[in-house]
Amino acid sequence: MGKWGFVGLLFLLWSLLAAAKLTDLADPPDWSRLDSFQKSISKQEFLRQLNEVYCPRKSWWSPWIEIEENRARIRKKAGSDDWYDLQFLESNESSNFSNSRFQISGSKILIDPGHIGGEFSEMEGRHFVLGDDEPVKEGDLALSVALKLKSELQKKGAIVSLSREQNQPVTQKCPQDFKELAETWFSRMEWLQKLPEEERSKRIQKRQELYFYRVSEIMARSEIIRKSQPDLVLCIHLNAAPWPDPDNKSLVTRNDYHVLVNGCYMGGEVAYDNQRFEMIWRLVNRWADKERLIAEPMSQAFSKETGLPAFAYKGPNALKIGEVEGVWARNLLANRIYEAPVVFLEPYIANSGEVYQRIQGVNSDYHDTNEGQSGKSIVQEYVDAVLLGLEQADSQK
Ligand SMILES: [Zn+2]
Repeated sequence: MGKWGFVGLLFLLWSLLAAAKLTDLADPPDWSRLDSFQKSISKQEFLRQLNEVYCPRKSWWSPWIEIEENRARIRKKAGSDDWYDLQFLESNESSNFSNSRFQISGSKILIDPGHIGGEFSEMEGRHFVLGDDEPVKEGDLALSVALKLKSELQKKGAIVSLSREQNQPVTQKCPQDFKELAETWFSRMEWLQKLPEEERSKRIQKRQELYFYRVSEIMARSEIIRKSQPDLVLCIHLNAAPWPDPDNKSLVTRNDYHVLVNGCYMGGEVAYDNQRFEMIWRLVNRWADKERLIAEPMSQAFSKETGLPAFAYKGPNALKIGEVEGVWARNLLANRIYEAPVVFLEPYIANSGEVYQRIQGVNSDYHDTNEGQSGKSIVQEYVDAVLLGLEQADSQK
């Protein structure tokens, strides 16, 4: 290799390092959006939120965020030496963020029924069927809950909207639109190159679909949220457990609930320019406090209404928030890019023996024979738990 070849190689390495690091379909962040948060948060508060909610290990954030006496310096672009300076509020000044309060009446609440459902449930992997029974589609159940919840909340004076009103995608895109992106992704995955041709096209197809039903779909919903600026987003989901034997499906006994707020960005996630920005954006907006204010009574309400135990995470991808059982922080696409306080509900294990029976009851309209401990259909019980949680949050003054 000649002298210039070596310099060229160095240049290539440098440009690779300096290249923006973004997650799929994300745009480079606009750091100037943070300008209006200059001197809005004290150093102590910034560090508390960072360490207790958003990024619990210093080694995860220290390559990207430097804390100085009067400012936080945040690296704008992976591999570059370009930093955003966020000046702290001096501790003797008072912030104009007052203590969070929540009132149902008059609040703008956006309900986000998880997934797309309908004819897309199999593609999304949120679908299972046993024998000749009706298929279980998480997206359809989430929409049933959301529609019922909407009318109940409206009766209480809330201004309610839904991110989707049908089991249809919000995004205008389709899987085919992501063919090139999926092929580029595949070509970067060296360990996949040896697969037989048929398997390769299957992997690319799966990837196209993922870009459609998850990334593009959630981005489309985040646009709705950005425009409507709700006070609270409620993401409606039902959990499921891994099948002990996926080829020979048998219902599990585990059944539980948990409630998520946004947080727990891991090292590999903070390394993405857009995720780093999104984390800081949520932090300076103080959404963590608002989310916790709703999530804690919500978790207590699910415990009371369903009688189920709270689920507890074991891995590093979730962080326990506060003392109330069942409240955890995770960094999910939806609770990260929805620009509002987001409370993400994960009650019930849909493929447990108990819940499966109740879901079949909803599908076949035999509500009465398949009640839980509350004597209600599973959809009604879900709605009642959410209402109770919001009422409790409302009464905490
Ligand atoms: Zn879900």
